[in-house]
Formats: sequence, C-alpha cells, structure tokens
Amino acid sequence: MTSSYRINYQLRAHKRDPLIEFIKGLLLTPFILHAKPRKPVLTSPHVGGNESIDTILATGTGTSNVNNDDRNDYQEEDKPMVDANLQRYLEIMKSVEVMIEEHRRKAVKGVPEHSRLHRIVPSVATFFTPLPLEAAFLDANAKHSIAARRFVPPSFNDIRRILNTAQVMAIAPTISLITFDGDMTLYDDGTSFTENSPLIPLLIALMRAGLRVAIVTAAGYPGDAGKYEERLMGLLRVFDQQKLSEKLLERFYVLGGECNYLFRCGWKKSDATSEPVVGLTYIHPESYQPSDMLAWKHEEIQELLDVAEENLKRSVSAMNLKAMILRKSRAVGIVPIGDVKIAREQLDECVLSTQQRLLEYQQMSGSSKTAIPFCVFNGGNDVFVDIGNKLIGVQVLQTYLGAAPEATVHVGDQFLSTGNDFATRSSCCTLWIISPEETEGVLKELTPLLTIPAEEA
Ligand SMILES: [Mg+2]
Repeated sequence: MTSSYRINYQLRAHKRDPLIEFIKGLLLTPFILHAKPRKPVLTSPHVGGNESIDTILATGTGTSNVNNDDRNDYQEEDKPMVDANLQRYLEIMKSVEVMIEEHRRKAVKGVPEHSRLHRIVPSVATFFTPLPLEAAFLDANAKHSIAARRFVPPSFNDIRRILNTAQVMAIAPTISLITFDGDMTLYDDGTSFTENSPLIPLLIALMRAGLRVAIVTAAGYPGDAGKYEERLMGLLRVFDQQKLSEKLLERFYVLGGECNYLFRCGWKKSDATSEPVVGLTYIHPESYQPSDMLAWKHEEIQELLDVAEENLKRSVSAMNLKAMILRKSRAVGIVPIGDVKIAREQLDECVLSTQQRLLEYQQMSGSSKTAIPFCVFNGGNDVFVDIGNKLIGVQVLQTYLGAAPEATVHVGDQFLSTGNDFATRSSCCTLWIISPEETEGVLKELTPLLTIPAEEA
C-alpha cells in the first residue's frame, strides 16, 4: 500500500472515530511539548564510569560535544516528569468531561448543536450518562503507565479503553440491561461459547445482580432455538450444571438476526431425554415487536435483498473474490470459500458500495413503499446485509424489558460506521471492545460496582 493511498483510505470517515480522534489530538499536544527523552547516562573513558549529562556539564569532563544548551533537550528526573505529564493529561480529560456535560445540558434543552463539543466534533453522538474521564484516566494510567511514556503518545486504544472505564463507572449505579454482540465480543469469530469461557461466571454475576442480559447478534436462524443453543452450548451447560433458578434464567435473552428473532432462556424438557434442561424458547414477534416492524412486507424485504444480492455478486466478480453468496430469509451476504481470508479493503468496498446501492434503491422507490431499515456491515471476514439493525434490536429489548437508554449498555467490537454495533449508539450507552478478553476486562470492572439484591446474595 503506497503511503498516499494509505493516507487517503485512512482519512475516510469509516476508518475513524471523531470523538476519539479529538481527544487523541488534545493529548498529543502536551506529549509533543513535554514528554522529552530521559537524560542519557554517558560512559566516559576519562572517569571510568557512568555519569549523567549533568555531571559532564558541571565538571567539563567527558568526550561528548554536549554544551549547556543541551540540558533543555532532556527531561527532568523520572518522578517529576511523570507527575507533570499526568497533571497535564488529567487537566485535558477534565476539560473534555466538562464539554460533554455542557453537550448533555444542551441536548436536554433540545439544542445539542449549540454545544462547544458539537461545534468541534459535529458527528458526536448522544451521551446518556456523564463520563468521568479524569477518574477513568487515572485508572488507565495505573494499568498502562500512559504518563510515563516518552516515545508512545496516548493512543486510539488507550482512549477507547478510558471511555469504556468512564462509561462503566457512570452506568454501574443504574444499569438494568446489558446487551452483547456475539462474534469477537463473547467468543472468537464464527466459534461457539465454550464451557471454560471466563465470561460465564461474569455473566451469571450480572444476572444475580438483577440485570437483564441479552445477546444481540447478527447470526440469523429464523425461529430456530436449536441453532442458537448450539452456538451457546457451553454457556447453557454451565447454567444447567449450576442449577440456576428459573427466575434467574428468565433474565437472559438472545436476539438474533440483529432484531428479528427473540428467545428467552429457561428450563425446558429435553427433546432427546425428556429430562429438564436449560434451553431457549422462541418468543413470537407479535408479543414484542412494534407495529411498524410487524408491517414490514415479505415481498418488499425480498426485493431489497434481491438488490443487495445483485450488488454483492457484482463486487465478488469485479474484485475476483473467492467468496460465495449466502441468502437467508432476512439477510444476504458473502462468505469466503474455504480458508480464504478476504482483505479488509475488499470487504469495506463491498459494504460501502452495497450501502450506496440500497440507499439509491430506496430513494428511487419513493414513498410508495415503507423504507425497510437494513444494515450492511463488515463482519471481519464476511459481509452481510441484514433486514433491521441493532438499534432496533436494542430498542425492542428496552421496550420489552422496561429499560431506559441511560440504564442500558451495549458491548460490541464493531463501532466504526461499517460495523453493525455502531447503530446502537443512538439508543443506549456503549462499550467498544476488540476481543472477548477485553469484554472480560470491562465486566471485571463493572461487576464489583453492582449491588447484589438480598435474595441473591
Ligand atoms: Mg462482532
């Protein structure tokens, strides 16, 4: 990849998160101005030992060409440097925290566009809770020594994790619903929940604390509880082994196909042995879907998927991808053939061109049809077009389970605009993780902050 291509590609909005870039830019200034290299310890043949640049400057010994001006090229002793860096970083985080508060106040008044933050980051989303960024930075600094670094400035990932910690701190006292993406959030891509997953005791702890826990996944198996039970086999087996009560199990849900197929967890009769086992029960759409969703017509869904399929086929052939089309009743996608790994750029090309094609199709169809919501996303090694999206998924659960946006958090790995977790931002708080290990990390931060109701303790 040539550098100009790389720069152009990365400048594209879909590769960046504007709020994180903004905070990163602010933290970069004190880093550039103050995080100077450590004073060198020079080996001088004349004195036969190690001495610092200060000794050499004071005594005039040594063979180096340093002069008095060089003193300023280096940082003071470690401790004061770290403390001063930390102080500057904390001031910045506190200022952003205050800007977010102002944005929230303006949003309550119905004019979020009047906030300073909105003027600087026009695409900034809604904040459903305050974000204690200063406290979260202190926490992250204790773990990752951000202020002690002289060559690596606070990174995108540092800031992403700090925002997660701040969100966890803010939502812990009021949280009532937590939703999780599946692939890369709870388990690796395309794999299943295994019994030894360290996430299982954490999910049970959330349920014991009275939270509703739901997996909101793109994986779509229309009404087929068995397929989801297979993917979640390890988790359900541990629920079974621990003989969790029906009341506890009722707090666990699976919403598949983004927002299309809802299941509740509970004890049921095993088909094979007739013994009671923990499994999933399909909930009929009429009992939870809003009327506008129930009004989506089958033929219109299929027409939209036909247009998407045609565009995906064109992309596969234009880029010569080793991929096949997979059509489901409410989705169509391309999946690699065999062990082929499709390049991220090619997957993004499929996503962006299909998004564009479907938007044009809906605009040209005019008002004669309902504009059926859809999402096109890069799933890491595949591309899918799903009917509906996770925004609707989270909203459906919030209504069904009675959870407000400020009491809901969605955990996922796809928060760039080509990802399918991105849409949830307008309806709930979010935690952006990049692996099941990071999900474990945020849950280990969250669970100690929850209060367990007396009957569960
Ligand atoms: Mg995912």
